[in-house]
Amino acid sequence: MTRCLNCGADRDADVCASCGLSSHAAEFSLRKRILNRTAIFLVGALAFVVAGERYPALDLDGILIFIGVLFFFTLGLAMWLERRALRHMEVEALKRIYYGLIPLPWLLAALLLGNGALDTSPPAVEVARVVAKFAMRGPAPSRRLVVTSWRPGHRVERIPVDRGDFDRFSYGDFLEVKVAGGLVGIPWVAGVSRP
Ligand SMILES: [Zn+2]
Repeated sequence: MTRCLNCGADRDADVCASCGLSSHAAEFSLRKRILNRTAIFLVGALAFVVAGERYPALDLDGILIFIGVLFFFTLGLAMWLERRALRHMEVEALKRIYYGLIPLPWLLAALLLGNGALDTSPPAVEVARVVAKFAMRGPAPSRRLVVTSWRPGHRVERIPVDRGDFDRFSYGDFLEVKVAGGLVGIPWVAGVSRP
């Protein structure tokens, strides 16, 4: 016999000696827990996208790609975990990895919010020129002004902006980007203006 799907105790009969659930009840309990935690994870991913817009990191697109990879990896893990639970296979190690991933988007959202909200350092002003514009519609719209970079080793910066700033600047315009250092060292964009 495998471990109990509900409490993880070793078990040699159908009814777990530790929690008293039968293998079917334990399977149901585990799948319900997977569903609940997946919901917490999904809301966390949404919270992260909102936090990312509030105090947009200079490298927001890279961070969003990381979150996207984490998102599909975690959902894939949830599906694999549920399939194994359905077949009453060993799930303890997978379950631990999965439960460990659930708070990650929430922690990253809090990190980005704290990085911007608690940052009291005066922002640096960088002059750049718009070389392209990019907007994506949808439930979480994102607008970027692609500008020449002031950082060594970077060709362009993709500046997250709101709708007003996105419409205000056109290709070839010069603009001032206010870049704050961030409380935990993640540079973020405090605003853009005309020089
Ligand atoms: Zn049990």
